[in-house]
Amino acid sequence: AKEVPGSFHSFFNPLMRTSYNRKSAIEKGLKGNLKENGFYYVLQPQVDGNTGQLVGAEVLSRWNHPEFGEISPPEFIQIAEESGEIFSLTSHLLVEVFTQIKEWQNRFGWNLKTAINMTPSLLSDPTFFDNFFELLECFKIPSHLIEIEITEQAELTYSSKTLENLLLCKSKGISIAIDDFGTGFSMISYLTHFPINKIKIDKSFVQKIGQNRKSEAVLTSLIHLAHSIECDLVAEGVETLEESLFLQENGCPVHQGYFYDKPLAPDAFERNYVQDFIK
Ligand code: C2E
Ligand code: CA
Ligand code: CA
Ligand code: CA
Repeated sequence: AKEVPGSFHSFFNPLMRTSYNRKSAIEKGLKGNLKENGFYYVLQPQVDGNTGQLVGAEVLSRWNHPEFGEISPPEFIQIAEESGEIFSLTSHLLVEVFTQIKEWQNRFGWNLKTAINMTPSLLSDPTFFDNFFELLECFKIPSHLIEIEITEQAELTYSSKTLENLLLCKSKGISIAIDDFGTGFSMISYLTHFPINKIKIDKSFVQKIGQNRKSEAVLTSLIHLAHSIECDLVAEGVETLEESLFLQENGCPVHQGYFYDKPLAPDAFERNYVQDFIK
Protein backbone atom coordinates (compact mmCIF):
# COMPACT_ATOMS: atom_id res chain seq x y z
CA ALA A 1 0.00 0.00 0.00
CA LYS A 2 1.18 3.46 -0.86
CA GLU A 3 2.22 5.46 2.14
CA VAL A 4 0.61 8.76 2.68
CA PRO A 5 2.17 11.46 4.75
CA GLY A 6 0.09 12.72 7.59
CA SER A 7 0.52 10.00 10.15
CA PHE A 8 4.05 11.29 10.41
CA HIS A 9 3.25 14.89 10.99
CA SER A 10 5.84 17.61 11.07
CA PHE A 11 7.79 18.51 14.17
CA PHE A 12 4.93 20.64 15.37
CA ASN A 13 3.21 19.46 18.50
CA PRO A 14 -0.40 20.67 18.44
CA LEU A 15 -0.35 21.12 22.19
CA MET A 16 2.28 23.81 21.75
CA ARG A 17 0.82 27.21 21.19
CA THR A 18 0.75 27.95 17.50
CA SER A 19 2.85 31.03 16.95
CA TYR A 20 0.93 34.06 15.82
CA ASN A 21 2.56 34.11 12.39
CA ARG A 22 2.01 30.45 11.74
CA LYS A 23 -1.57 30.68 12.88
CA SER A 24 -2.40 33.65 10.70
CA ALA A 25 -0.69 32.00 7.72
CA ILE A 26 -2.74 28.85 8.29
CA GLU A 27 -5.91 30.90 8.63
CA LYS A 28 -5.12 32.69 5.41
CA GLY A 29 -4.60 29.34 3.68
CA LEU A 30 -7.97 28.16 4.95
CA LYS A 31 -9.65 31.19 3.42
CA GLY A 32 -8.17 30.63 -0.02
CA ASN A 33 -8.58 27.83 -2.54
CA LEU A 34 -8.11 24.77 -0.37
CA LYS A 35 -7.10 22.41 -3.16
CA GLU A 36 -4.54 24.84 -4.58
CA ASN A 37 -3.24 25.42 -1.09
CA GLY A 38 -2.41 21.75 -0.60
CA PHE A 39 -5.48 20.45 1.19
CA TYR A 40 -6.43 16.82 0.46
CA TYR A 41 -7.89 13.78 2.19
CA VAL A 42 -7.12 10.12 2.80
CA LEU A 43 -9.31 7.12 3.63
CA GLN A 44 -8.66 4.50 6.27
CA PRO A 45 -10.39 1.12 5.96
CA GLN A 46 -12.51 -0.37 8.73
CA VAL A 47 -12.23 -4.13 8.64
CA ASP A 48 -14.03 -7.06 10.24
CA GLY A 49 -11.13 -8.79 11.95
CA ASN A 50 -12.99 -12.15 11.98
CA THR A 51 -13.53 -12.33 8.23
CA GLY A 52 -10.99 -9.83 6.92
CA GLN A 53 -13.83 -8.10 5.08
CA LEU A 54 -13.91 -4.37 4.53
CA VAL A 55 -16.91 -2.81 6.25
CA GLY A 56 -16.36 0.92 5.69
CA ALA A 57 -13.89 3.78 5.69
CA GLU A 58 -13.12 6.98 7.57
CA VAL A 59 -12.18 10.19 5.78
CA LEU A 60 -9.20 12.01 7.31
CA SER A 61 -8.14 15.46 6.17
CA ARG A 62 -4.57 16.30 5.27
CA TRP A 63 -2.81 19.51 4.47
CA ASN A 64 0.48 19.80 2.70
CA HIS A 65 1.00 23.48 3.28
CA PRO A 66 3.15 25.38 0.75
CA GLU A 67 5.19 26.93 3.56
CA PHE A 68 4.96 24.50 6.51
CA GLY A 69 4.69 21.12 4.79
CA GLU A 70 2.34 18.55 6.32
CA ILE A 71 0.36 20.16 9.12
CA SER A 72 -1.26 17.83 11.64
CA PRO A 73 -5.07 17.69 11.38
CA PRO A 74 -5.65 18.60 15.04
CA GLU A 75 -3.70 21.81 14.47
CA PHE A 76 -5.47 23.02 11.34
CA ILE A 77 -8.89 21.71 12.38
CA GLN A 78 -8.67 23.66 15.61
CA ILE A 79 -7.69 26.82 13.77
CA ALA A 80 -10.51 26.25 11.29
CA GLU A 81 -12.94 25.73 14.15
CA GLU A 82 -11.83 28.90 15.95
CA SER A 83 -11.77 31.08 12.84
CA GLY A 84 -15.11 29.88 11.50
CA GLU A 85 -13.50 28.37 8.40
CA ILE A 86 -14.53 24.83 9.42
CA PHE A 87 -17.82 25.28 7.56
CA SER A 88 -16.15 25.92 4.21
CA LEU A 89 -13.41 23.36 4.84
CA THR A 90 -15.92 20.60 5.63
CA SER A 91 -18.18 21.59 2.73
CA HIS A 92 -15.20 21.41 0.38
CA LEU A 93 -14.34 18.01 1.81
CA LEU A 94 -17.93 16.78 1.39
CA VAL A 95 -17.94 17.75 -2.28
CA GLU A 96 -14.64 15.95 -2.88
CA VAL A 97 -15.72 12.83 -1.00
CA PHE A 98 -19.21 12.68 -2.49
CA THR A 99 -17.76 13.02 -6.00
CA GLN A 100 -15.49 10.06 -5.29
CA ILE A 101 -18.19 7.93 -3.68
CA LYS A 102 -20.52 8.53 -6.62
CA GLU A 103 -17.82 7.52 -9.08
CA TRP A 104 -17.09 4.34 -7.11
CA GLN A 105 -20.77 3.58 -6.86
CA ASN A 106 -21.17 3.87 -10.64
CA ARG A 107 -18.00 2.01 -11.59
CA PHE A 108 -17.78 -0.70 -8.91
CA GLY A 109 -21.16 -0.83 -7.18
CA TRP A 110 -19.51 0.53 -4.05
CA ASN A 111 -22.04 0.53 -1.19
CA LEU A 112 -20.13 0.67 2.08
CA LYS A 113 -20.32 3.43 4.66
CA THR A 114 -17.96 6.40 4.59
CA ALA A 115 -17.48 8.27 7.86
CA ILE A 116 -16.74 11.99 8.06
CA ASN A 117 -15.60 13.87 11.17
CA MET A 118 -17.71 16.79 12.38
CA THR A 119 -16.73 19.43 14.91
CA PRO A 120 -19.03 20.77 17.66
CA SER A 121 -19.58 24.13 15.94
CA LEU A 122 -20.87 22.36 12.82
CA LEU A 123 -23.22 20.21 14.86
CA SER A 124 -24.88 23.27 16.34
CA ASP A 125 -24.73 25.36 13.16
CA PRO A 126 -28.13 26.54 11.93
CA THR A 127 -27.34 26.07 8.23
CA PHE A 128 -24.52 23.54 7.85
CA PHE A 129 -26.81 20.53 7.73
CA ASP A 130 -29.12 22.11 5.14
CA ASN A 131 -26.03 22.40 2.99
CA PHE A 132 -25.01 18.82 3.86
CA PHE A 133 -28.41 17.34 2.95
CA GLU A 134 -28.54 19.40 -0.25
CA LEU A 135 -25.16 18.03 -1.30
CA LEU A 136 -26.31 14.47 -0.58
CA GLU A 137 -29.32 15.03 -2.80
CA CYS A 138 -27.38 16.81 -5.49
CA PHE A 139 -24.87 13.94 -5.74
CA LYS A 140 -27.65 11.36 -5.32
CA ILE A 141 -25.77 9.64 -2.51
CA PRO A 142 -28.00 7.30 -0.47
CA SER A 143 -27.80 8.62 3.08
CA HIS A 144 -27.16 5.17 4.57
CA LEU A 145 -23.73 5.32 2.90
CA ILE A 146 -22.77 8.25 5.11
CA GLU A 147 -21.74 8.28 8.74
CA ILE A 148 -20.81 11.30 10.81
CA GLU A 149 -18.33 11.07 13.67
CA ILE A 150 -18.78 13.38 16.62
CA THR A 151 -16.33 13.80 19.45
CA GLU A 152 -17.19 14.34 23.03
CA GLN A 153 -15.59 17.48 24.35
CA ALA A 154 -15.19 18.92 27.78
CA GLU A 155 -17.90 21.41 28.60
CA LEU A 156 -19.77 20.87 25.39
CA THR A 157 -23.27 22.00 26.13
CA TYR A 158 -26.28 20.34 24.65
CA SER A 159 -27.53 23.03 22.42
CA SER A 160 -31.01 22.22 21.25
CA LYS A 161 -29.78 22.90 17.71
CA THR A 162 -27.22 20.08 18.00
CA LEU A 163 -29.92 17.68 19.08
CA GLU A 164 -32.22 18.91 16.31
CA ASN A 165 -29.50 18.47 13.67
CA LEU A 166 -28.60 14.99 14.89
CA LEU A 167 -32.24 13.91 14.96
CA LEU A 168 -32.61 15.17 11.41
CA CYS A 169 -29.55 13.12 10.38
CA LYS A 170 -31.02 10.09 12.07
CA SER A 171 -34.40 10.54 10.39
CA LYS A 172 -32.63 10.58 7.03
CA GLY A 173 -30.78 7.35 7.82
CA ILE A 174 -27.35 8.89 8.35
CA SER A 175 -25.36 6.93 10.90
CA ILE A 176 -23.99 8.81 13.93
CA ALA A 177 -20.83 7.56 15.59
CA ILE A 178 -19.30 8.83 18.80
CA ASP A 179 -15.54 9.16 18.36
CA ASP A 180 -12.76 8.66 20.94
CA PHE A 181 -15.24 6.92 23.17
CA GLY A 182 -14.20 6.57 26.78
CA THR A 183 -11.95 9.62 26.87
CA GLY A 184 -14.43 12.46 27.23
CA PHE A 185 -16.25 13.89 30.15
CA SER A 186 -19.81 13.32 29.21
CA MET A 187 -19.76 9.91 27.60
CA ILE A 188 -22.89 8.59 29.27
CA SER A 189 -24.90 11.77 28.75
CA TYR A 190 -23.93 11.75 25.09
CA LEU A 191 -25.37 8.28 24.73
CA THR A 192 -28.60 9.20 26.42
CA HIS A 193 -29.10 12.68 24.89
CA PHE A 194 -28.11 12.07 21.30
CA PRO A 195 -29.26 9.49 18.75
CA ILE A 196 -25.92 7.66 18.64
CA ASN A 197 -25.84 4.34 16.81
CA LYS A 198 -22.13 3.60 16.78
CA ILE A 199 -19.32 3.80 19.29
CA LYS A 200 -15.67 4.17 18.30
CA ILE A 201 -13.51 2.95 21.14
CA ASP A 202 -10.54 5.23 21.60
CA LYS A 203 -7.11 3.95 20.68
CA SER A 204 -5.74 4.67 24.15
CA PHE A 205 -7.68 1.62 25.41
CA VAL A 206 -6.52 -0.54 22.53
CA GLN A 207 -2.89 0.40 23.11
CA LYS A 208 -3.04 -0.95 26.66
CA ILE A 209 -4.13 -4.43 25.63
CA GLY A 210 -1.64 -6.91 27.02
CA GLN A 211 -0.09 -4.27 29.24
CA ASN A 212 -2.59 -3.13 31.77
CA ARG A 213 -5.27 -5.36 33.30
CA LYS A 214 -7.35 -2.49 34.59
CA SER A 215 -7.48 -0.83 31.20
CA GLU A 216 -8.41 -4.17 29.65
CA ALA A 217 -11.28 -4.40 32.12
CA VAL A 218 -12.45 -0.90 31.22
CA LEU A 219 -12.19 -1.81 27.55
CA THR A 220 -14.32 -4.93 27.92
CA SER A 221 -16.84 -2.93 29.97
CA LEU A 222 -17.12 -0.38 27.15
CA ILE A 223 -17.73 -3.25 24.74
CA HIS A 224 -20.47 -4.64 27.01
CA LEU A 225 -21.99 -1.20 27.33
CA ALA A 226 -22.17 -0.84 23.55
CA HIS A 227 -23.79 -4.28 23.24
CA SER A 228 -26.32 -3.63 25.96
CA ILE A 229 -27.57 -0.44 24.33
CA GLU A 230 -27.41 -2.04 20.87
CA CYS A 231 -24.83 0.31 19.44
CA ASP A 232 -22.49 -0.76 16.64
CA LEU A 233 -18.85 -0.82 17.64
CA VAL A 234 -15.48 -0.18 16.09
CA ALA A 235 -12.10 -0.14 17.81
CA GLU A 236 -9.58 2.39 16.53
CA GLY A 237 -5.80 2.33 16.62
CA VAL A 238 -5.50 -1.45 16.25
CA GLU A 239 -1.80 -1.98 15.52
CA THR A 240 -1.00 -5.59 16.41
CA LEU A 241 -2.31 -9.12 16.00
CA GLU A 242 -2.53 -9.42 19.78
CA GLU A 243 -4.81 -6.40 19.97
CA SER A 244 -6.92 -7.65 17.08
CA LEU A 245 -7.39 -11.10 18.70
CA PHE A 246 -8.17 -9.68 22.13
CA LEU A 247 -10.85 -7.44 20.64
CA GLN A 248 -12.34 -10.27 18.60
CA GLU A 249 -12.45 -12.57 21.62
CA ASN A 250 -14.12 -9.86 23.67
CA GLY A 251 -16.94 -8.99 21.30
CA CYS A 252 -15.50 -6.20 19.18
CA PRO A 253 -14.71 -7.59 15.72
CA VAL A 254 -14.64 -4.38 13.66
CA HIS A 255 -11.30 -2.61 13.66
CA GLN A 256 -9.50 0.37 12.22
CA GLY A 257 -5.73 0.77 12.51
CA TYR A 258 -2.25 0.32 11.11
CA PHE A 259 -2.46 -3.46 11.63
CA TYR A 260 -4.86 -3.47 8.68
CA ASP A 261 -3.83 -0.37 6.76
CA LYS A 262 -2.80 3.24 7.02
CA PRO A 263 -5.05 5.97 5.74
CA LEU A 264 -4.65 5.88 1.95
CA ALA A 265 -4.99 8.41 -0.85
CA PRO A 266 -8.22 7.81 -2.81
CA ASP A 267 -6.42 6.23 -5.80
CA ALA A 268 -4.58 3.75 -3.56
CA PHE A 269 -7.77 3.04 -1.62
CA GLU A 270 -9.51 2.36 -4.94
CA ARG A 271 -6.80 -0.07 -6.09
CA ASN A 272 -6.61 -1.92 -2.78
CA TYR A 273 -10.25 -1.95 -1.72
CA VAL A 274 -12.80 -0.58 -4.17
CA GLN A 275 -11.68 -2.09 -7.46
CA ASP A 276 -12.53 -5.66 -6.50
CA PHE A 277 -15.75 -4.69 -4.86
CA ILE A 278 -18.46 -7.13 -5.90
CA LYS A 279 -21.42 -5.54 -7.58
P1 C2E B 1 -9.63 10.65 14.84
O1 C2E B 1 -10.92 11.01 14.22
O2 C2E B 1 -9.66 9.93 16.13
O3 C2E B 1 -8.87 9.83 13.72
C1 C2E B 1 -8.05 8.72 13.99
C2 C2E B 1 -6.61 9.13 14.01
O4 C2E B 1 -5.82 7.98 14.34
C3 C2E B 1 -6.09 9.61 12.66
O5 C2E B 1 -5.10 10.60 12.92
C4 C2E B 1 -5.43 8.34 12.09
O6 C2E B 1 -4.45 8.62 11.11
C5 C2E B 1 -4.84 7.77 13.34
N1 C2E B 1 -4.63 6.32 13.28
C6 C2E B 1 -5.20 5.42 12.46
N2 C2E B 1 -4.80 4.17 12.73
C7 C2E B 1 -3.93 4.26 13.77
C8 C2E B 1 -3.16 3.31 14.53
O7 C2E B 1 -3.20 2.11 14.30
N3 C2E B 1 -2.40 3.81 15.53
C9 C2E B 1 -2.34 5.14 15.81
N4 C2E B 1 -1.55 5.53 16.81
N5 C2E B 1 -3.05 6.07 15.13
C10 C2E B 1 -3.84 5.63 14.12
P2 C2E B 1 -5.02 11.91 12.06
O8 C2E B 1 -5.36 11.58 10.64
O9 C2E B 1 -3.74 12.56 12.37
O10 C2E B 1 -6.22 12.80 12.62
C11 C2E B 1 -6.19 13.26 13.92
C12 C2E B 1 -7.52 13.86 14.31
O11 C2E B 1 -7.80 15.02 13.54
C13 C2E B 1 -8.69 12.92 14.03
O12 C2E B 1 -8.75 11.97 15.06
C14 C2E B 1 -9.83 13.90 14.01
O13 C2E B 1 -10.25 14.22 15.31
C15 C2E B 1 -9.19 15.11 13.39
N6 C2E B 1 -9.54 15.16 11.96
C16 C2E B 1 -8.90 14.62 10.90
N7 C2E B 1 -9.54 14.91 9.74
C17 C2E B 1 -10.62 15.64 10.09
C18 C2E B 1 -11.69 16.26 9.34
O14 C2E B 1 -11.79 16.17 8.11
N8 C2E B 1 -12.60 16.95 10.07
C19 C2E B 1 -12.54 17.06 11.43
N9 C2E B 1 -13.50 17.76 12.05
N10 C2E B 1 -11.56 16.49 12.15
C20 C2E B 1 -10.63 15.80 11.49
CA1 CA C 1 -12.76 10.09 13.76
CA1 CA D 1 -10.92 8.74 17.21
CA1 CA E 1 -0.12 -2.66 22.29
